Amino acid sequence: MKFSSSRASFVSFVPFVVKATLALLLPLCLFLYLLAMPHESTMTNKPEKPASPPPAVAAKPAKSTDDLRTRLTPEQYHVTQEKGTERAFTGKYWNHHEAGTYRCVVCGAELFTSQEKFDSGCGWPSFYAAKDKTVDTQVDKSHGMVRDEIICHNCGAHLGHVFDDGPQPTGLRYCVNSASLDFAPKDVQEKK
Ligand SMILES: [Zn+2]
Repeated sequence: MKFSSSRASFVSFVPFVVKATLALLLPLCLFLYLLAMPHESTMTNKPEKPASPPPAVAAKPAKSTDDLRTRLTPEQYHVTQEKGTERAFTGKYWNHHEAGTYRCVVCGAELFTSQEKFDSGCGWPSFYAAKDKTVDTQVDKSHGMVRDEIICHNCGAHLGHVFDDGPQPTGLRYCVNSASLDFAPKDVQEKK
């Protein structure tokens, strides 16, 4: 009897426990859910954060305008940064025949050598070829003409234009502003 009565009280006790547990659990779950919400949002935000810095890192280490203005002559700046053109037969290298390498005056990349230089008679230093992958070409429609502009692959400095009336083996004429170039004599290079 005692057993059955305690069993009866136990049976009536069970729903109470269930109700009490549910009553406690529901707010607890809600509370935990609300607690988890901000964590969830910060966790989803975290992977996005590293995605924003790369553009700044990926940007070319371009020299500041102020730095270039102090380092380059006004003509070098105008030609390389503002796509200017020096007057024919006025530049340093149109009539220059020393053996050596012509570098980008802005970034120092080696662009042309004296071996590919030829006398075009146009008044600007001319080459029938550039060093491999150092010079890029892009269409230039300024001054009412369609020309192929040449720029330094490394820094984007304007160099001049390339035409297809050059000598063999390429048939090309890279017509370059002296102001875009810096010459390094061959013997100096070999000493380095
Ligand atoms: Zn350059």
